[in-house]
Amino acid sequence: MTTASSAAQSAATRAEDLAAEITELSAYLYAATYRLLVLIHEFDKNLCWEYLGMASCAHWLNFKCGIGMHAAREKVRVANALAELPTMSARFKRGELSYSKVRAMTRIANEENEDYLLGIAKYGTAHHVERLVSLYRGCKRQQDNENANKAHRKRELQCHYDTDGCLVIHGRIPAAQGALIMKALERAMEHNDQPKPYNQKVPAGTPEEPFYAQCADALAELAEIYLASDKTPGSTADRYQVVVHVSPDTLMDAPPEMDDEGISHIEDGPHVPAGTARRIACDCSIIKLTEDNNGEPLSVGRKTRTIPPAINRALRARDKGCRFPGCTHTQFIDGHHIQHWADGGETSLDNLVQLCRRHHRLVHEGGFGCERLSNGKLVFRDRQGDILADYSELPHISHSDNPVAWLDVQMPNLNIDANTCVSETTAGERMDWHLAVGHIFAEDNPKQPRV
Ligand SMILES: [Zn+2]
Ligand SMILES: [Zn+2]
Repeated sequence: MTTASSAAQSAATRAEDLAAEITELSAYLYAATYRLLVLIHEFDKNLCWEYLGMASCAHWLNFKCGIGMHAAREKVRVANALAELPTMSARFKRGELSYSKVRAMTRIANEENEDYLLGIAKYGTAHHVERLVSLYRGCKRQQDNENANKAHRKRELQCHYDTDGCLVIHGRIPAAQGALIMKALERAMEHNDQPKPYNQKVPAGTPEEPFYAQCADALAELAEIYLASDKTPGSTADRYQVVVHVSPDTLMDAPPEMDDEGISHIEDGPHVPAGTARRIACDCSIIKLTEDNNGEPLSVGRKTRTIPPAINRALRARDKGCRFPGCTHTQFIDGHHIQHWADGGETSLDNLVQLCRRHHRLVHEGGFGCERLSNGKLVFRDRQGDILADYSELPHISHSDNPVAWLDVQMPNLNIDANTCVSETTAGERMDWHLAVGHIFAEDNPKQPRV
C-alpha cells in the first residue's frame, strides 16, 4: 500500500469513527430530550411555575434553564402534545426519533395518523417530515376556507356584564376579520412573551386557564392600544379613560369597617374590590371630588397624575420594564408604589418600581409582596412570604463528567448504538408529496377511500 492510499484509508476510518460517535451521542441526546419533555409536561400540568409567580412554563424555562422564549414555548407545546401520543413517545424515549422530527409531527399528529407519520419518520429525513407537515397544514387551511362564506351570514357580537362584574363576550366573526383579530391577539401575546395561541393544537391535559386568561389580557391590551391611538377620529385620550370612583378609605391598607358594596366602582359599571382599586390608583390620574351627605358634589379638584411625568420618565429609564424576577415584559407597564401613596408612601424613585400588569395584579390582589429592605435591595415575596430570588440554588441531584455514562445511569437499558437514530432512507430517494398528504387526509376521514 502506498503512503498516499494509507493516509486516505486512515482518514476514512477516522470519518467512520466520528460518524458513529456523533450518531450514537445524538440518540442519547434524543432519549435525554424525551426525559426532559416528560418532566416539563409534569411541571406545566401541575402549574409548578405559577407557584413561583411566573407568567408561563416557558418563562420559567427561559429564566432557570437559559432556553430562549421561542424555543421554550416549543418545548412546552411538544411536551404536552407527546403526552397524548404513546407510540411516538415510546420511540422518542428509545432515542430512535430526533427532536426535529418529533417537533414537526406533533403539529398535526393525532391518534389516527400517528402510525403513518412514524412510518415517514422511520424512512425519511427530518426535512421529509417537516415538509410533509407543512404541506398538509397548507391544504387543510384551503379546505377550511371553503366553509368560510357559510359563516359570514352568521356573524354577531354580544356583550353583557355578568353578576360578578365580568364582561361576558359571545360572538361569531367572519374568517377574514377573525384572522385579523387572531393576528392582533397573537401579536399582543407575543409582546407579552406568551405562548403562541392559535393555529396550534391545544392538547388535552394542557392547563387551559392560563392560556385563555392570557387571551383575555391580550384583548384588553388591544382595546388599550386602540383607545390610546391619536388616529381615533375626534378623540382625545382622556375621553376614553376608564373612570373608577373610589373613596379615600378604600385605598388605605386597613380600611375602617364599612359596607363593602359601592366603596369603589367603575363609572356606569360594576363594583371593584379594594385590592383592584389600590392597584389602579398606584399609577393613574386622580380628581378629588367632595360630596355632601346626600352624595351631591360640592367641589371638583384639579386632575393630577399619581406619578408625575418627570418621575415616570426617570422610573422608565431606571427599570426599563417589569422588575419581577424572571419577567421579560417591557410593554404595558405600571408604576407601583412599594408603600402605597394612600398609606403615606412617597412618590419618589426609591418608593417606585415598574411592574407588568400580571405582576402588578399579583402584588395587589394575588398574595405576592414587594418591598425594599433596609439595605435598599428590592425583593419580592411569594404567597408563603418567602423571598423570590433572582438566583437560588436547586437541590443537587447527581453529576458526571461523562454525559453518556450519566445518561446510562438516568435511563438504563436503552440499548442505544450508532444506528439507533439513523433513518432508513435511501440516498436520493424522492417523496411523492401528493400521495403522502392525501394519506393523512384519508386518516382524518376514515370513511373516504384511500388515495
Ligand atoms: Zn401598585
Ligand atoms: Zn412582570
